[in-house]
Amino acid sequence: MKLYLRILRYAKPYLPRIIISILCMMIVSACTAGSMYLMKPLFDEGFAASNPNAFKSVKTIAALLLGIYLVKGLAFYIQDYLMNNAGQKMVMDIKNGLYAHVQKLSLGFFSRNKTGQILSRLTSDVTNMQSAVNASTSILSNSLTFLGLLAVVIRMNWFLTVVSLAISSVIVFPLYKFGKRLRNVSSLAQNKIGEITSVAHEGIANVRIVKAFGMEEYEQRKYEQANRGYFDTFMKGIRTTAMSTPIVDYIGITAICAIIIISGHQVSQKLLTIGEFMAFTGALFLLFNPIKNLNGVNMVLQQAFSSAERVFELLDTPVDVKDREGALELKEFENSLEFKGVSFSYNPGAEVLKNINLSIKKGQVVAIVGPSGSGKSTLVDLIPRFYDVAGGSLEIDGKDIRGITLKSLRAQIGIVTQETILFNDSVRNNIAYGLSGAAQEKVEEAAKAANAHAFILKTQQGYDTFIGERGVKLSGGERQRLSIARAVMKNPPILILDEATSALDSESERLVQDALNNLMKNRTTIVIAHRMSTIINADKIVVLKNGLISAEGKHEELLKTSETYKRLYEMQFADGRENK
Ligand code: ADP
Repeated sequence: MKLYLRILRYAKPYLPRIIISILCMMIVSACTAGSMYLMKPLFDEGFAASNPNAFKSVKTIAALLLGIYLVKGLAFYIQDYLMNNAGQKMVMDIKNGLYAHVQKLSLGFFSRNKTGQILSRLTSDVTNMQSAVNASTSILSNSLTFLGLLAVVIRMNWFLTVVSLAISSVIVFPLYKFGKRLRNVSSLAQNKIGEITSVAHEGIANVRIVKAFGMEEYEQRKYEQANRGYFDTFMKGIRTTAMSTPIVDYIGITAICAIIIISGHQVSQKLLTIGEFMAFTGALFLLFNPIKNLNGVNMVLQQAFSSAERVFELLDTPVDVKDREGALELKEFENSLEFKGVSFSYNPGAEVLKNINLSIKKGQVVAIVGPSGSGKSTLVDLIPRFYDVAGGSLEIDGKDIRGITLKSLRAQIGIVTQETILFNDSVRNNIAYGLSGAAQEKVEEAAKAANAHAFILKTQQGYDTFIGERGVKLSGGERQRLSIARAVMKNPPILILDEATSALDSESERLVQDALNNLMKNRTTIVIAHRMSTIINADKIVVLKNGLISAEGKHEELLKTSETYKRLYEMQFADGRENK
């Protein structure tokens, strides 16, 4: 019920059109019930041999029927249109709200949840919820029709009505049972859809690796398995819905048979006219329709509820990294960035960073080195608050970054990662990402600084060339230079660089290195270093080991003072393969 009320809360802005729609629904129901009322005079007057005005009555009744159905048709159109309009708008609002929320969630959320599962909640679950809206319409209209017809049958013959209701009430129990079962199955089925989406998403996003390792069949089998899992669950649901229809039907027809026998007896006793009998059983048959429909609707509703639960669960995921109340705007980065006793863990009990104390002065180049898994990426991810520190504080110009608005903090920071993430858009928009309406000269300037201008001009449409998904139409070096151009364009005072570990050919390497040097000019740079030139030129090298800073200083110094650094240097940097 709570769930239902929560869905209905989205209906609030569309209340006027919903009310009009309900009014029209009432007209439709009244028309249905009213037409039944004409049955009695049709049989008792129109078809009565003793009535001299019989034909006139039949004509009047026919004319009335035509009129009633005209009104009913019009009312139905308005009702159907308005209700769907409101329903679709509600779904649109839910989708928009959900996506806005997902965008706010921290990186932690995305590493805990599979993309496919998130996507399936955004798509198929929301679509399922839409059926809750349609179902509500159906519940309303069927209930109204039911009530209208009920009023008619009670007026016609209250005794028979009470008897038929008593028999029909047996329906309630199976309805409840089926509904409950279906809800569980639906929840499971939606999970399976999430799995299918996840498997497909992974296979497509990693298509290169899949092909390189000849794992197409393996991936296909994974997909087929997920698909099969959904099919089995879905069929379980179908068994429930398919069973519910005949059972409800059967209970209904039993009730009707009982009534026919009882009322037949009354007719033979002259307690009931033939017309009354026809009108009553006719109305009873019609009365049975909304009950049957309500059963169908209940099934749909249960599915919608299980989806709604999944949607609301996502919507209720707390945003753990967000602006504090009264957070300050960071105007400019002036002096320094300080880690003060910082600790961090992804999972409770497993500290990834421990008591990090580090000072980065404006204009410095600080290189972070350390074995894989020592916490280098985690350390730099704390600066733009992709995650918040667990202990200690990270301060920018003496202000705790948790007291600064995310927007103004991130505006100061540019990030160039190993994975060069490009969007399926033109070269220009990829470079000017986040800066809509940037002047062409600015874009070109950035591209030139990043050694990208020349190769962009060589492409068919220059800056208007579309880059395929994930930039597959460009070489590795070209992609890197485009993402460097994007950072140049943003022109942030603080730069976070994760140097690529994959080897480029020497010409490409020189162009990328050159572009990076241009990018680093006049900025404060924190770089996860993989190149020898980077560590040699760095103002400070920080050696991380098991989440602790094990040494800090310049290259020459560290070679003498830090055993860890010396070993790392010999393994990673000094063997002539700079970028390994
Ligand atoms: P590095 O960049 O030095 O290779 P990371 O900062 O990526 O190291 O990782 C440090 C530790 O944190 C590793 O043990 C890694 O397994 C763990 N880790 C990294 N990212 C996550 C995550 N999203 N969830 C849980 N553990 C993580």
